[in-house]
Amino acid sequence: MTLSGSGDSQSGSARAHFVLVPMMAQGHTIPMTDMACLLAEHGAQVSFITTPVNAARLEGFAADVKAAGLAVQLVELHFPAAEFGLPDGCENLDMIQSKNLFLNFMEACAALQEPLMAYLREQQRSPPSCIISDMMHWWTGDIARELGIPRLTFSGFCGFSSLVRYIIFHNNVLEHITDDNELITIPGFPTPLEMMKAKLPGTLSVPGMEQIREKMFEEELRCDGEITNSFKELETFYIESFEQITRKKVWTVGPMCLCHRNRNTMAARGNKASMDEAPYLQWLDSVKPGSVVFVSFGSLACTTPQQLVELGLGLEASRKPFIWVIKAGAKLPEVEEWLADGFEERVKNRGMVIRGWAPQLMILRHQAVGGFVTHCGWNSTIEGICAGVPMITWPHFGEQFWNEKLVVDVLKIGVEVGVKGVTQWGSEKQEVMVTRDAVETAVNTLMDEGAAAEETRVRAKDCAIKARKAFHEGGSSYDNIRLLIEEMGNRMNAGG
Ligand code: UDP
Repeated sequence: MTLSGSGDSQSGSARAHFVLVPMMAQGHTIPMTDMACLLAEHGAQVSFITTPVNAARLEGFAADVKAAGLAVQLVELHFPAAEFGLPDGCENLDMIQSKNLFLNFMEACAALQEPLMAYLREQQRSPPSCIISDMMHWWTGDIARELGIPRLTFSGFCGFSSLVRYIIFHNNVLEHITDDNELITIPGFPTPLEMMKAKLPGTLSVPGMEQIREKMFEEELRCDGEITNSFKELETFYIESFEQITRKKVWTVGPMCLCHRNRNTMAARGNKASMDEAPYLQWLDSVKPGSVVFVSFGSLACTTPQQLVELGLGLEASRKPFIWVIKAGAKLPEVEEWLADGFEERVKNRGMVIRGWAPQLMILRHQAVGGFVTHCGWNSTIEGICAGVPMITWPHFGEQFWNEKLVVDVLKIGVEVGVKGVTQWGSEKQEVMVTRDAVETAVNTLMDEGAAAEETRVRAKDCAIKARKAFHEGGSSYDNIRLLIEEMGNRMNAGG
């Protein structure tokens, strides 16, 4: 974050007031905290809607915006967990114990409609000029209409994956296809794209997803535009096609993670780190630049214990230095036992394990990191792109498979580990999708010193340069942020 003062109000228009309503899931909230900073740095006022448990995770963010004097206010609304059959304090998707509670969670979110409306009505001194809502919060549509202000949606997807999703759902492409292994050509996609049914949208088997999806799409059709955490130069073709097909303005304002310019704000991003960063940084400082493989699967993926052991054995066999994040909350006594039973000793001085929340952005940006084994969540992907680090793609579910296509086939900045099927979110199935040999091969292919791996590295570095260009003054995303603020300010001045 620049976090450099109170922002420059743009001349000629009143200060636009953005209300940000993130989904309570790390992969959705984190980019919105970056968005809040960017909007405020460029002169807007921001109200960031959250709930008590999530606000506690955002303490670092709150302290940073305060220290920088940015006009960002955290607005805490009571989350009615108990009223919807959720355990007390269950306020984030990563806290849901069973996917059967997904619908309860979404209904509890929708119950925020009234208190949010009441709060916004009270803001007479500085009425909101625009709502930027996570796409999953379909219920913010009514609020925007009642207040007579625009509503922009944020899906957290890149342009490529937004387009796949839109085509599949709005054309009912999967309607009569029963075989999960059938290869499907995505009709109307601007470049040839074929995928197995199981890897396409609409196959996430979470009870209640269908109901939510319909409401989301109804509201998506009514929204006033989309915000995307990507940049034009990365995927122009797909972003333009998405704009044409939806007939909506797409504001590419990313990569938003570039607002972090110092280690302190990176370390506090999303949550407090579960470990003391100092020994990790010391170790990273001591090894050869570009030599370390960073392994992290985001905040929601449920990698099975057997699969984690297999992954660990593959990393060990690769003989490359690594940092491996094993997320908290997984049921991992057997993994813990296995780690303690010789693994950590065998990889001592070469491999480090982080259990729980890692300062991912800070690690990825370290010059020692030369490869990223990722589940291809879009935030992780764009963070890898910004760091100029080539990737090993290991998608688990949903849009992660389409992001893999973008990384491997379009941008050519990564190699697949070779995932054949979906690890459903919340699944209890004890499967090994990827063998230790496949991990070893992928790591060695990516970190190799030969020409092919070098070309991948050059392309990754080139993407990082383009990302910075887009983000900084004179770049496409920089201009878009300013135009967005100006447009919303002008609409407000003109009376809606
Ligand atoms: N993240 C992090 N530390 C962790 C795990 C995740 O900082 O230990 C961050 C990561 O940098 C990214 C976000 O959490 O910004 C995860 O979003 P992504 O879209 O990659 O995946 P999701 O968690 O939504 O599957």
